[in-house]
Amino acid sequence: MQNDYYEVLGVDRNADKATIKKAYRKLAIKYHPDQNPGNKEAEEKFKQAAEAYEVLSNEDKRARYDRFGHAGVNGNAAGGFHDVGDIFSAFGDIFGDFFGGGGRQQSRRSQRPRRGSDLRYYLDVDLKDVLNGVEKEIDFDCEDSCSTCSGSGAKEGTRPVTCTTCGGSGQVIRQQGFFQMATPCPECRGQGQVIQDPCQDCSGRGRKLVHRRLNIKVPPGVDNGTQLRLTNEGEGGHLGGGRGDLFVEIRVKEHPHFQRRNQHLIAREKISYLQALLGAELEVQALDGTARMEVPQGTHTGDVLRIAEKGIPSLRGGHRGDLLLEVEVEFPKKLTKKEETLLREIAEEKGENVVESKGFFGRKKK
Ligand SMILES: [Zn+2]
Ligand SMILES: [Zn+2]
Repeated sequence: MQNDYYEVLGVDRNADKATIKKAYRKLAIKYHPDQNPGNKEAEEKFKQAAEAYEVLSNEDKRARYDRFGHAGVNGNAAGGFHDVGDIFSAFGDIFGDFFGGGGRQQSRRSQRPRRGSDLRYYLDVDLKDVLNGVEKEIDFDCEDSCSTCSGSGAKEGTRPVTCTTCGGSGQVIRQQGFFQMATPCPECRGQGQVIQDPCQDCSGRGRKLVHRRLNIKVPPGVDNGTQLRLTNEGEGGHLGGGRGDLFVEIRVKEHPHFQRRNQHLIAREKISYLQALLGAELEVQALDGTARMEVPQGTHTGDVLRIAEKGIPSLRGGHRGDLLLEVEVEFPKKLTKKEETLLREIAEEKGENVVESKGFFGRKKK
C-alpha cells in the first residue's frame, strides 16, 4: 500500500509548485540521513518524500497521478529511487544551499594552473643605507616549475596519461552509510593523471628547488618592517600558473650612536661646563659626515638641541627629518690651577659660599 503523495508532503491537492518544493525541502532536511544516522524510519520517510516530490514537481507526472493514482506513474515513468545517492543526484540543487553543495561539484583543483606561493625575505640594512638607498644582492632557494618537463613531471617527449582508476576526475565516489562521498583518487592522488615515465630532473614532481640571486633596490627612507614587493619573483606557478610575488621585509640594524624616531635621529652629545655656560658652536657626528651644533649660553644637561634636516629622508621624498641632540654637560674631576684661581675669584665676587679646600671643585646644585 503506497501513501498518497500529497499526504506524504503534507500539502493540499491544489498546492502550487513553490509550495510543493518548500514542503519537500522541509521534509528532506528533517529526515536527511545526516540528521538521523542509522534511523531506518527516517530513511524511508526521506525516500518517500523524494518520490512524492519527483512526481508532484513534474506537471506531466502530476497530471497522470491525479488521474490514475499510483498506477499512472509507477513503472518506468515513475523512475523510483533506489538509494539516497539517486536522490542526491536528482534533487541535489534543492539541498545545495543547505548541505553545502555536496561533494560532486567539487572542482579538480589540483589540475588547474595555480599561481606560485608568495615568498618573504628579511633584508638587513645599515642605518646609513637608509639615507640614500642601497642596492643589495640577495640569494635564496625557492620552488620552481621544472624547466625540463615544463612542470608536467613527465619525461621529455612523454605526457602524463589519464588515470584509469578515476577516469581523470581525480575523485572516487565511496558509499559511506547513506552517503556517497567523493574522496581524492588514491591512484593519482587527485591529479586525474598519472605519470608513467617520470622526468629525471624533478623525479616526476614537476617542480625543483632552485637557487636564485636577485638585486634589490632599497629606496631611501625605509624603516623596520617596510615591505618591498617584487611582483612575479616568488615561487614558480603550478601547471603554467603565474609566479608568486617576493616580499622583501626590511630590518634596519641598530646603530651604536644614533637612534631613530620616525624621520628623526636622536643622539647624546657631551659638552664641557664651559661650553654649556658660555655657549659654543661645535662640530658633531651626523649620520652622513658631520654637522654644526650651536650650543646656546646656559645650556643644561638634558636639553635637546635640534639640527634641521640631518635626519632620515621620507620614503615619499621631501624633507629629511632632524637630528636631535640630547646634551650632557661634563664637569672636570680636577681643575687646573688657573681655573681654580679664576673660579674662586668669581665665587668671592658673587659672595657664594664655597669650600676652601684646595683642588676640589664642589658640584653646585642648580
Ligand atoms: Zn621535470
Ligand atoms: Zn585517479
